Amino acid sequence: MKTIIEPFKIKSVEPIKFTTLGEREDALRRGSYNLFLVPAEEVLIDLLTDSGTAAMSADQWAGMMRGDESYAGARSFYRFERAVRDLTGFKHVIPTHQGRAAEKILFSLLGGKGKIVPNNTHFDTTRANVEFSGAEAVDFPTAEGTDPDTVAPFKGNMDVHELEGFIENVGAEAIPLCMVTITNNSGGGQPVSMRNLRETREVCRKHGIPLFLDACRFAENAFFIKQREPGYAHRPIRDIVQEMFSYADGATMSAKKDAIVNMGGFLALNDDALAQNARNLLIVTEGFPTYGGLAGRDLEAIAQGLEEVLDEHYLQYRIRSVEYLGEQLTAAGVPILQPPGGHAIYLNAKKFLPRIPPAQYPGQALVVDLFRRGGIRSVEIGSVMFGKYGTDGSLIPARMELVRLAIPRRVYTQSHIDYVIEVVIECFEHREELKGYRIIEEPPVLRHFTARFEPM
Ligand SMILES: *Cc1c(COP(=O)(O)O)cnc(C)c1O
Repeated sequence: MKTIIEPFKIKSVEPIKFTTLGEREDALRRGSYNLFLVPAEEVLIDLLTDSGTAAMSADQWAGMMRGDESYAGARSFYRFERAVRDLTGFKHVIPTHQGRAAEKILFSLLGGKGKIVPNNTHFDTTRANVEFSGAEAVDFPTAEGTDPDTVAPFKGNMDVHELEGFIENVGAEAIPLCMVTITNNSGGGQPVSMRNLRETREVCRKHGIPLFLDACRFAENAFFIKQREPGYAHRPIRDIVQEMFSYADGATMSAKKDAIVNMGGFLALNDDALAQNARNLLIVTEGFPTYGGLAGRDLEAIAQGLEEVLDEHYLQYRIRSVEYLGEQLTAAGVPILQPPGGHAIYLNAKKFLPRIPPAQYPGQALVVDLFRRGGIRSVEIGSVMFGKYGTDGSLIPARMELVRLAIPRRVYTQSHIDYVIEVVIECFEHREELKGYRIIEEPPVLRHFTARFEPM
C-alpha cells in the first residue's frame, strides 16, 4: 500500500511552540503535573481530545462569512436542517450548542426517577444527563468489547442478548428509550456493525422502545462498516450512513466530532409530540428553534462539515493514520488497546508500567513523561479519572489504566504522527525510570480536571 497522504493542502498555518526539557519540566511543576493545568501554548502536539479541535476547510470558513444571522428562519438554519435530514432521514432537526445540550433536553423529557436507559456504553456526559434526570444508565458492551487485547472488527457492539434479557426482566415500561453510541467512545472508539444495529432495532421494536443513536462519530463508524462488514465494500459512505440512521427513531450529536467544527450539536427525531416538547425546552435553555445555541455561521459550517466528512479520501486518511500509529507502537512492543479505534490510540499503562501500582497512578506517570520528553499532551483514562475511595480511604482503582492519544481532525500531518511514535517509544525504552504520583489536592467531583499531583 502507498503512503497515506493528507487529502488536502495547507492554506493557513499556526505555529507550534518548541520548548526545552527545562521549560517543560517547569511547566509541569507550575501545572502540578496535571496536563489540564498546562497552557495549550506550551504544548507541542496536543492529543488531549478530538472534540472541537478540528481544522475547518476553506469552504467552511467561506460559509462562516455567508452565515445568515437572522433571529428567526435564517437561511443558514435551512441549509443545516437539509444537511442533517439528508443523512439521518429524521423529520425534526433541533440545533444545540453542543452534544450534551441535546442530551439534557432529551433526558429531561424522557428520563426521570424509576426510568432506565440502556446503551452499548454511555459516554460520560450522556450518563451524567441520564442520572441527573433521576434515571439509571446501564451499559451492555459485549464480552470481547471489554477485553483490551482481543482483536475483533466490531468491539463497539451492543450485547443484544443481554439487552433483551434485561428488558424482559425489568419490563419495557421502565425503558423510555434505548441508545447506541457510534463509535463506542468510552469503549475505545470501536465501531458498531450494521448487523448489530439491525438486531438492536429488532429487540427495541418488539418491546415498543424507541432507539436513539449517540451519533458523534457516525462517519468513522460507517467507514469501518465499509471496510469490515460483508456486503458493504462497494456501498458509498452516504448510503451506509443513511442505512445506519434508518434503524433509529432519533439521534443526539456533538458536531465537535464528525461535523468537523469547533462548536455545535443537534437533536434529531421523528416523534412530533416529543419534538414539540423539545423545542419548548430549547427556547428556555438554548434559543429559538432555528438557531438553538448557535450562530448562523456555525450552522453553515456544520452543514458543510457534514458533507466533507463523507469524503472517502478523508475517512481513509483519518482511519489509516490512527491505525498506522497503533501498528507502529505495537511493532515496537508498546502495549495498546487493540485494535486501534477511529479517533484515538489508548496506551495500556498497566502493562506499560507494571511496577507502578494503580494507587500511584501509572497512567498519570505516562501522561507526564510524554509531555516531559516530547511536549505531547495526552489524557489519563484510569484511576485518576474513575478511581473511587473505599470507606477506609484506600483507592478503589478503575477497571483499566489507559492513556488516550486522541487525534484532532485534519490538524496534524503524517510527520507529526511519526514524531509521536518516536516519543512514545522513547518513553517505553525508559519505562524503568518512571515513578508513580500521589494526589495532594482534589475536588469532590470530576477530579481529573483540577487535581494536583506530586511525584512519589
Ligand atoms: C463528545 C461526546 C458527547 C458530548 O458532546 P459535547 O459536544 O462534548 O457536549 C456525547 N457522546 C459522545 C459519544 C461523545 O464523544
